[in-house]
Amino acid sequence: PNGRTDAMRTDDVKHMKWWGWGVEGVGFRYEDKPGFAPFVQKAVGLDLWAGERTERPDFSRLRVPASTASEEFVAVLGGIVGAGNTVVDDLSRVVHTYGKSLRDLVRIRAGEIARSPDVIVYPADEEEVQSVIDASVEADAVIIPFGGGSNIAGSLEPHMDESRVVVSLDLGRLNRVLEIDPDSGLARVQAGALGPDLEAQLNRDGWTMGHFPDSFTHSTLGGWVATRSSGMQSDKYGDIADIVKGLRVVRAGGVLVIRAVPSASTGPSVREMVVGSEGRLGVITEVTVQVHRLPEKRAIHAYFFKNLDHGLAAMQKIAESDVSPSVTRISDAHETAFSLATSKESKGIQKKAQTGLMAYLRRRGWSLDEMCLSFIGFEGDEAHVKRQKSLVDRIVRKHHGIGVGRGPGALYDQKKFDTPYIRDFLLDHGAAGDVSETAGPWSKLRGIHAAVYDAADHAYEKIGHAGWTMSHMSHSYHSGACLYFTFAFVFGDDPLGEYDIVKGAIQQAFVDAGGTISHHHGVGLEHAPWLEEDISTEGVAIMSGLFGAADPGGNFNPRKIV
Ligand code: FAD
Repeated sequence: PNGRTDAMRTDDVKHMKWWGWGVEGVGFRYEDKPGFAPFVQKAVGLDLWAGERTERPDFSRLRVPASTASEEFVAVLGGIVGAGNTVVDDLSRVVHTYGKSLRDLVRIRAGEIARSPDVIVYPADEEEVQSVIDASVEADAVIIPFGGGSNIAGSLEPHMDESRVVVSLDLGRLNRVLEIDPDSGLARVQAGALGPDLEAQLNRDGWTMGHFPDSFTHSTLGGWVATRSSGMQSDKYGDIADIVKGLRVVRAGGVLVIRAVPSASTGPSVREMVVGSEGRLGVITEVTVQVHRLPEKRAIHAYFFKNLDHGLAAMQKIAESDVSPSVTRISDAHETAFSLATSKESKGIQKKAQTGLMAYLRRRGWSLDEMCLSFIGFEGDEAHVKRQKSLVDRIVRKHHGIGVGRGPGALYDQKKFDTPYIRDFLLDHGAAGDVSETAGPWSKLRGIHAAVYDAADHAYEKIGHAGWTMSHMSHSYHSGACLYFTFAFVFGDDPLGEYDIVKGAIQQAFVDAGGTISHHHGVGLEHAPWLEEDISTEGVAIMSGLFGAADPGGNFNPRKIV
């Protein structure tokens, strides 16, 4: 045990700003990226030089529904967690209402809050979580666990018709690594730990969990487990479903305990039932995770491929081979063009090298409109990294790709946690930029890619605006990979109506072309309409039965997933 017991207060719990991603005062800037404004003008007809189109959201103009929690009930909760850790003010309730999906951001900016949680509690430990749950179920209140509030699947908002009192149970004070078993590489961690806090505590003792979603800075371990998250280095460390070995989940009247064992044949896996349960089976208070020694060396190399076919074929060969990279990612031609447009102006030798590279590729017969940028990451000791890279280089060469060194990869690694701010920037300019992701077998990936572009193009036509779609492949498996799509368009008069048409078309294309409705964002309310097509009617019936039996009163985050 590392014996850290430093107490946390509600005031120390970090939340994102109420109207968008991340923290106030940080944002996406395009002035230092000379290619960006011409790029968006061409892609979606957005004139950035015309300035911002929408006003910054003003909290004083929000109409926040009044809390329906009685003084007596608030006092009962305050008696458990302390009066200072039970809050009902409007700002706290707004912060705990939504996640950060585009739908959430549009609604919050428009001041649309149909239903907020009525009271927020910040328990300090599992015992307090148990008492809050028991008191809430006794009062027939609804309990919605809150991690970082970063989900984009509509997993947090109380149903607009919810007539019962809604308690948002914020795990923010449970943020410590409790114990590391060095023999087994297992760490017991409290579920409310945010990514950076969790990694900092593990790193101090020479360990890493290796889970780095793009939302890493503002999401929690419990949230990752509850949404079946996946991080950038999943090729090496696995998805969260692989990383979680043990769990403690507080339910009405008791704690569900899954002990950390490497594998078990004890019937359908209850551990797996909790992973992805989005708060419907109880509140995860503690997770035992697989951790690894910090690698001696970590490098991300960039490669260019002539086109997506060559690039995907190379990624498939890498996945089939004995090579074990930490990251395999390839952007399609549209996303490659976007990446080049969001690069800062290069000067001097760097500029000459870039111009020289492009001229060389043209001479080799490449069309710069078709080429694809790929990042491949390696981790381990010096010799391992060297050997892995040489094996990958061989596969890349066989598929006519070329390596362009570590520079672009290092830049990507530094920028990745800033990219989420771009959605707020686009909304300031009256435009949507959002994502949808799927996974499918290798044999179907090209078909899924084409089907999504086709569906999105039809949707843009339907709403009557120019739209932009781009994609990358990441998270490789032996049998297939994740395809991640970004889409953008300038809003007309009905932002959410237009968004529904585009997002709906993309989701439908996923299932029609043989992919899943989500590889790592979960189901929530956003993807629930397609669940039956994904896992069949019987699958939905089993899931409904599970939630119904585990929570007969429908007190735990009701109506999410099914
Ligand atoms: P929250 O949003 O607070 O909650 C999500 C759901 O989990 C809710 O249903 C909530 O009730 C439940 N929950 C939370 N904590 C608990 C708990 N302790 N016990 C029981 N239920 C709980 N996801 C990825 O996987 N990979 C990515 O790369 C990625 N990138 C993103 C980038 C951006 C810009 C954004 C906005 C989101 C991204 N996401 C990504 C999605 C999101 O970050 C994940 O879904 C994340 O796992 C949510 O964690 P959270 O702590 O924020 O959970």
